[in-house]
Amino acid sequence: MPEIHAARRARAQAQLGELDADAVLVTAGPNVRYLTGLASSNAALLLPAAGTGLLATDSRYELAARRDAPDLELAVARFVGPALAAEAGRRGWRRLAAETHDLTVDGYAEIDAAAPGVTLFSFDEKVEELRAVKDRSELELLAAACRITDLAFADVLPLIRPGLTERALAAALDHRMGELGADRPSFDTIVASGPNGALPHHQPSSRPLRRGDLITMDFGAQYAGYHADMTRTVALGEPADWQRDLYELVATAQRAGCTAARPGAGLREVDAAARDLIAEAGHGEHFGHGLGHGVGLETHEAPLIGYGSTGKLEDCISVTVEPGVYLPGRGGVRIEDVLVVGAGTADGAAQILTTSTKELLAL
Ligand code: ZN
Ligand code: ZN
Repeated sequence: MPEIHAARRARAQAQLGELDADAVLVTAGPNVRYLTGLASSNAALLLPAAGTGLLATDSRYELAARRDAPDLELAVARFVGPALAAEAGRRGWRRLAAETHDLTVDGYAEIDAAAPGVTLFSFDEKVEELRAVKDRSELELLAAACRITDLAFADVLPLIRPGLTERALAAALDHRMGELGADRPSFDTIVASGPNGALPHHQPSSRPLRRGDLITMDFGAQYAGYHADMTRTVALGEPADWQRDLYELVATAQRAGCTAARPGAGLREVDAAARDLIAEAGHGEHFGHGLGHGVGLETHEAPLIGYGSTGKLEDCISVTVEPGVYLPGRGGVRIEDVLVVGAGTADGAAQILTTSTKELLAL
């Protein structure tokens, strides 16, 4: 779909005009993929303020580049950043914006040394800002990633019983997502059972599941580069009163966060819609992380929905809403969905792409 990528490049080129830059050197992998269609661990794009861009990658990706980005000039090089910076110099592009937030100190020095007479300056995270608002093709891929995630969750539920280890449950989720068409898991799958549920990013262990556990699973499928990210907490056996109460609190906060996620809503206000409920219930100190984050070509991308966030949501921004309450020594609950803000609904409500039940399942 080269025309989609050309339209994205045109938006990036409009940003170049505002910076009075002759060109930008795009080096962040997800940004290169977004603007060209090429998925490569070693590629960069030199995009002039007007005209055709120049894509560089090494020989391993040459055929993929010709297939995925036929409308771009292609340079085959091992050191893609310096090669393109040198080319900018040869073409007389003297003011070169770069993704300094993505470069190492050494990488920046190599680019600078390759282009004498060229002035480098920061492009900031402008491509990431463009990426926050998804186009239709991206929303379709994100929905497909979420569908695989939902199906895998439904398929592993019957496996959950006393004695199964956290690690085996995580492996079953990963395996099932692969069978259902995922490229790979979006990130290292989290399975946290019993007291381990108090650690928001617990690494699955050899702990066997026990009756009386709450079990938190945080996982997602990557599909065509797009990342799903869903969390569900289930009970093994009949939940105790404190577990039901905790679950109800988090579920209520999660619904409030989803309802607040509308076009024009301040990020901080969306966070507060969920956080205030948890704080009023006396658990403010047990919810330390942000409410959510953008999700797309990366699991965590702009915008961050947290208590220190500035900025607002817009139509077609995809974000997670994932409050949690973590009680040291006892366990925790987190519930997370991927949603698309606005998404064309008349009343501005978000479309929730992860549709697995949020009722407390007692397995
Ligand atoms: Zn997650
Ligand atoms: Zn998340």
